[in-house]
Amino acid sequence: MQITRNSIATSAGPREWFTGAVYIDTVAAPSAGSRLSASSVHFTPGARTAWHTHPNGQTIYVTEGAGLCQRRGGPVEAIRPGDRVFFEPGEEHWHGAAPNRFMTHLAMFEVDDNGVSATWGEHVTDEEYNQQPV
Ligand code: MN
Repeated sequence: MQITRNSIATSAGPREWFTGAVYIDTVAAPSAGSRLSASSVHFTPGARTAWHTHPNGQTIYVTEGAGLCQRRGGPVEAIRPGDRVFFEPGEEHWHGAAPNRFMTHLAMFEVDDNGVSATWGEHVTDEEYNQQPV
């Protein structure tokens, strides 16, 4: 058993992976016995991930605010607290806050054999982001 007290500093999302200000609190970190990674990710209005994929897929569960997500080739979708989204392994996608709202989601996935959680691509352009969500 290992208790981690609420003492770990929130980290800022790296600029290579995000547009806008994003803050990350770790919930579960992979260890020798578990591949599970979980984070609480806080997006400021307009902030979003870059396009990316996860080797074993990813579930996000929206806990606060109003958000958006999109898979490559699909429409931009509005997501709300209580909604969960599963992105298939290798499915290119992004997720983030709505333009005028904060959004927080839990992000859960399993890393691959090499500890890799995601493969990152280009940033989501304003034109892509500003499509009318369905
Ligand atoms: Mn993702």
